[in-house]
Amino acid sequence: MNGFAPRDDIMPWSRTPRTRMEVARPAFPDELAPLAMQGADLPRGLLAGGLQRSYGDSCINDGGALIEMTGLDRFICFDRTSGLLEAEAGVSLAAILKLVIPAGFFLPVTPGTKFVTLGGAIANDVHGKNHHRAGTFGRWIRSLSLLRSDGREHTVSDDDASGLFAATIGGLGLTGIITRATLQLMPIASSNMAVETIPFGNLAEFFALSAVSDASHDYTVAWIDCLAKGDLLGRGIFTRARHASDGVLRVKPPGGPSIPIDAPGFLLNRFSIAAFNEVYFRLAGRARQSTMSYDPFFYPLDAIGNWNRMYGPRGFYQYQSVVPPEVAAEVTAEMLRAISDARQGSFLAVLKTFGDMTSPGLLSFPRRGTTLALDFANRGGPTLWLLDRLDAIVREAGGRLYPAKDGRLPPAMFRAGHPALDQFTTHLDPGMSSTFWRRMTP
Ligand SMILES: Cc1cc2nc3c(=O)[nH]c(=O)nc-3n(C[C@H](O)[C@H](O)[C@H](O)COP(=O)(O)OP(=O)(O)OC[C@H]3O[C@@H](n4cnc5c(N)ncnc54)[C@H](O)[C@@H]3O)c2cc1C
Repeated sequence: MNGFAPRDDIMPWSRTPRTRMEVARPAFPDELAPLAMQGADLPRGLLAGGLQRSYGDSCINDGGALIEMTGLDRFICFDRTSGLLEAEAGVSLAAILKLVIPAGFFLPVTPGTKFVTLGGAIANDVHGKNHHRAGTFGRWIRSLSLLRSDGREHTVSDDDASGLFAATIGGLGLTGIITRATLQLMPIASSNMAVETIPFGNLAEFFALSAVSDASHDYTVAWIDCLAKGDLLGRGIFTRARHASDGVLRVKPPGGPSIPIDAPGFLLNRFSIAAFNEVYFRLAGRARQSTMSYDPFFYPLDAIGNWNRMYGPRGFYQYQSVVPPEVAAEVTAEMLRAISDARQGSFLAVLKTFGDMTSPGLLSFPRRGTTLALDFANRGGPTLWLLDRLDAIVREAGGRLYPAKDGRLPPAMFRAGHPALDQFTTHLDPGMSSTFWRRMTP
């Protein structure tokens, strides 16, 4: 196909499924419409791709076409008074930060990596540590342009009555290709953060700290030791922060160490994870206040390039759930007991309370409640068995899973967790598809 070439090296961040796709990477906007129409003609259709920082199969289109949007990464307009920024969808959050921090602005919402594109952040309606104050990324999108696979471009704003805007925010790339968007930025006085870390001994202490801190701080999140048991179940380190007011507006220079090859899988086992959790808890185990740059605060994992290779050639699974506030304490405890019983710890276990700001997107993941994010090395059957068990707990609680993170979310659970699914499908672009979508709609 003209402009497309077969590739088998593109995979989700969890490195689990191997794929083969017809891939194009346009450099100019006028290349897009012909490519979109060509790709949509393939039996498995077309998908737009960003920086492949989604962990599951929602960012791939095995056997179909993928248009990598990273070559379309130009800034169009930046109003340094209002903080409105218009850019092409392939621009990364890292590039946005580089432009806007010196001007005294910051992203209103950011995920835990800056290596995602504007289009990818919209299509997953990403959330950050300030969900209780700011809601999701999509709340800050004022308008976007969407190229459908028939070659027509639509510009829709946040007051759009047609429903296309709401379907595209968190729409997993299935409503068309986002070509550009206008984002409302947030003013800051400093690129530094005033950060407090507070150890807590169990889940009850987490919920108490979270309630107090969500009222007083812009950013809150907790790391938990998911192998702790009994009275220590849910012990961890709580972090809360605000933007500092010291007047420094400095962008972090690029670079840092990288993991060059797949680590052998045996490096990660329940003993090493238990030892890591113990050491981490002890090192961070006293309350502290510090001032640090925005970069290590928001993006600690970005400091190690290709950290996903740490899990070895079999890759890993991310699992992120959200459960309603009324049952959050007991359901989180049940999940942690299931993990501990299965003796499959997670290095990265993050607990956070989502606030009550409704997401604009029909399929957006965040809702009011408590969210738990976990990484599990892929050990085949035993790992899938544990994830099934966690599914049962989350589903029973009326919760949902985050499609961006999950490469094996069962279709029934997706449907149960997303009541607006039927409304969403009326806006599907018939030429767009993904491995995830075909799995959800067999
Ligand atoms: C270390 C790490 C930390 C993370 N932390 C968080 C977090 O705190 N909160 C959170 O919400 N997520 C988090 N994520 C997930 C990540 O933010 C999202 O998956 C993000 O959407 C990835 O963007 P991307 O540009 O890599 O897009 P991809 O992963 O390539 O694609 C994501 C989706 O966007 C669609 N898409 C991409 N570009 C376009 C476009 N131009 N038009 C239409 N659709 C498009 C794709 O089709 C796909 O459905 C994290 C990921 C990592 C690796």
